[in-house]
Amino acid sequence: MNLSKYNIITENEAGEKILFNSMSGAVFKLNSDYESILKANRILDLSDSEIDIFKKNGVIVDDSEQQLRQYDYEHNLFKYDDSLLSITWLTTWGCNLECTYCFEGDKKNTKIVSNKSDIDKMLLFIENEHSKHHFKYLALTLFGGEPMVNYKGIKYSLPKIKEFCDDHEIILGINMVSNGLLLNEKNLNFMIENDLKMIQITLDGPQQLHDQKRIYPNGKSTFNRIIEKLEFLRDNFPLLTICIRINVDKENYPYIEDLLAFLKKRNLLMMTIDFGIIRDEATSCGNISNICYPDEELGKILYSLWLSAAKKGLSMRTVPAKRYTYCGLNREHSYTFSPEMNFYKCWEHLGDEEHNFGILNERGEIEITNPNYYDWMSKNPTAIYECAECKYLGSCGGGCSVNSYNQSGTYNSAGCYQVKGVIEKQLVFSLNNNQI
Ligand code: SF4
Ligand code: SF4
Repeated sequence: MNLSKYNIITENEAGEKILFNSMSGAVFKLNSDYESILKANRILDLSDSEIDIFKKNGVIVDDSEQQLRQYDYEHNLFKYDDSLLSITWLTTWGCNLECTYCFEGDKKNTKIVSNKSDIDKMLLFIENEHSKHHFKYLALTLFGGEPMVNYKGIKYSLPKIKEFCDDHEIILGINMVSNGLLLNEKNLNFMIENDLKMIQITLDGPQQLHDQKRIYPNGKSTFNRIIEKLEFLRDNFPLLTICIRINVDKENYPYIEDLLAFLKKRNLLMMTIDFGIIRDEATSCGNISNICYPDEELGKILYSLWLSAAKKGLSMRTVPAKRYTYCGLNREHSYTFSPEMNFYKCWEHLGDEEHNFGILNERGEIEITNPNYYDWMSKNPTAIYECAECKYLGSCGGGCSVNSYNQSGTYNSAGCYQVKGVIEKQLVFSLNNNQI
């Protein structure tokens, strides 16, 4: 019998201890007796029934490799599960704004949109994938640029996709990442009829800071217009999920509480709030590293954001979840297509030849043209020593492959991000807020 490698013990400000096992997801509040027994690995000081409970919850294991083997199996089941086809479609490189930090506009021909023949390839691809794998769910994310700049392409494709899904009893869910400014009653009604379920709209901080970054090409500000759109969505489309993503960096972090207070005053906190920590991992974003928080500070930063949000009445559930891969893009059946139907895995890499893995051809088939694809797809954290030995593995999944590549020149390596030190803060916040 051994203690699991995947136990994490932490404590809150009052000295209350928590034991978490990242493989089983089990959480225990520990008194100091248990803490000292476990920290000193004195398993035999525990009673049989205590050992039994800890075994059932993965804290004690008979064979120290057993959890890793099980996780390997579950990771593969998840990775190769073919019930879900997930597509992120960059409808255009173009945008109605000229945000100062945009990772796309400076490198791309912003006039390029997916035209009818590009979209037909994607429609054929969906049909081909269904005939091969009979997926039951289709998740489509409309992305850009600003996806609504190619509303013509959206109008052409969505009814066809919906019809195909209805005919084949596929559950369709469409999400959009948008700045919100081109949305109106007519186009929203159309997209909702075609299974648009969620829109994510980003704010870059309170008005003054947001308006320094998110501007129209003529320099005009956007904050007030976006707030008006959010109110319009709240009042007219209550069934549509709206996620307000608040980008956080070193410049705007001290003012996020002001933004939350503003959103509360405007009755917008009933929408989902997501804090998006700005990273400089996208290859064309090197110039923002001075305002990005290093990974080791993220636990502290996120904890204080959760506190601010909770003070404003938002429910922030932070109990760590199990993750079989760090993100959905490690899965086999997940694809990102540029407007020209070049194939990538991650949207952070869009437009970067090194990470362009292939093309979607006229027959709706992906032709892999870049062997880096196999490096991406063969990532298995149980075969990466650093991850296999890492206590966070069950709640991490091997890290972000974009990070992995940037740090070691291969996707097939640990890509630690927003996990180490963050899981502990998640546990403490859950303990302090009666979630465990
Ligand atoms: S990516 Fe980093 S945090 Fe995640 S399991 Fe691997 S070593 Fe641990
Ligand atoms: S690979 Fe990394 S950057 Fe890309 S979506 Fe996943 S977590 Fe994000």
